[in-house]
Amino acid sequence: MLIGGGHAHLGVLADWVRRGGPEARTTLISPHRYTRYSGMIPGTVAGEYDDEHGRIDLVALAEQAGVELLLDRCATIDPEQRTITTGDGRSVSFDICSIDVGGVERAKGVLGMDPRIVDVRPIGSFLARLAEWQTSSPGVPGHIVVAGGGAGGVELAFALRRRFASGSSRITLVTGQDGLLDDLGRRTAVLARRELVRQDIPLIEEDLRIEHGAIVAGQQKLEPVDLIVASLGAAAPRWPKEGGLAVDDDGFIAVDRHQRSLSHPHILAAGDVAARQDRRVPHSGVHAVHTGAVLAANLRCLVAGTGGLRSYRPRPASLYLLSTRSGKAIASYGPFAAQGRWAGALKRWIDRRWVTSFAKLTDPV
Ligand SMILES: Cc1cc2nc3c(=O)[nH]c(=O)nc-3n(C[C@H](O)[C@H](O)[C@H](O)COP(=O)(O)OP(=O)(O)OC[C@H]3O[C@@H](n4cnc5c(N)ncnc54)[C@H](O)[C@@H]3O)c2cc1C
Repeated sequence: MLIGGGHAHLGVLADWVRRGGPEARTTLISPHRYTRYSGMIPGTVAGEYDDEHGRIDLVALAEQAGVELLLDRCATIDPEQRTITTGDGRSVSFDICSIDVGGVERAKGVLGMDPRIVDVRPIGSFLARLAEWQTSSPGVPGHIVVAGGGAGGVELAFALRRRFASGSSRITLVTGQDGLLDDLGRRTAVLARRELVRQDIPLIEEDLRIEHGAIVAGQQKLEPVDLIVASLGAAAPRWPKEGGLAVDDDGFIAVDRHQRSLSHPHILAAGDVAARQDRRVPHSGVHAVHTGAVLAANLRCLVAGTGGLRSYRPRPASLYLLSTRSGKAIASYGPFAAQGRWAGALKRWIDRRWVTSFAKLTDPV
């Protein structure tokens, strides 16, 4: 059983279309027919892509891979009895299972409740929730605060600047005390800082909080604020821990180098919901995508009962391309970073090629 149609499971399905799947009836459980490719979300927010451009159709992909698709969500898991229950109350049993459900929202826990907050997670429904907010608050927003200094927050700040370029909207980026892009090299942060100044996006490297209903960062009151887009990283869903799977301190499923659960080796997990215990692997789409082929091979081995499980070995550095919109991007690789139109073109090419690779699998003509 595959739970969740995240970036890693897309790789599993693609691998099974190309190489053949395991000799076992397999079900994919996903609440949505489409998986949203996160790399293209800021481009859709900016209005550079149509809604359907950055999504992958699970119906077609699952069919080609010989996998049954159940449109539902996993609500609870019993790893001993090898069953899950779904949001619709169905009970589904499995022998071997792989979990790739991404992360859940953090903003409510960190900031509290405020109707102006739109959390980017769950990623699959972000664009729909942003559109809902826009319908309930028609017109051009006066002031948008983007919370989160990681790649997602930075790209969304540039995307919102572009989306509301013709109005008088102000965009403010609040990174938290960890600062701007602390996971990427110093040079990447220098280039991003310069571009934020150029695009007139104030940067506040303080924690955002809500005090008596008012939005505050450090000592600064930011009101009036119409919208807070929160990109604060992934929180773990509760059901894996509640079901008794071994998890790390933050509730993410603890896995080994084969992506196997430390407590239940017949269960694998990958992407943002998993936490490698033998080494640090950051939560990112790049790693989720690259684990796909490893998961696909290991699921084949587990079903066949053969040894030879593969390990996921992340490369020493990964290429990140942060679009600053208007055709440009910042390319970041370890300590190196550069900005230009060539990086923007490279990002668009990589993103489009990745999404169309699935379309080609399901519709080869
Ligand atoms: C705006 C933005 C831009 C980003 N850009 C980049 C980038 O350019 N490069 C990069 O490396 N990373 C990027 N990231 C990070 C990246 O999006 C995540 O690390 C990546 O999506 C994680 O993939 P995943 O497979 O873990 O899960 P996801 O892609 O989040 O997919 C999880 C899937 O599981 C489904 N699901 C959830 N709960 C359940 C359930 N209970 N039962 C069944 N199914 C369920 C969801 O509907 C979803 O389809 C970005 C993040 C954001 C917010």
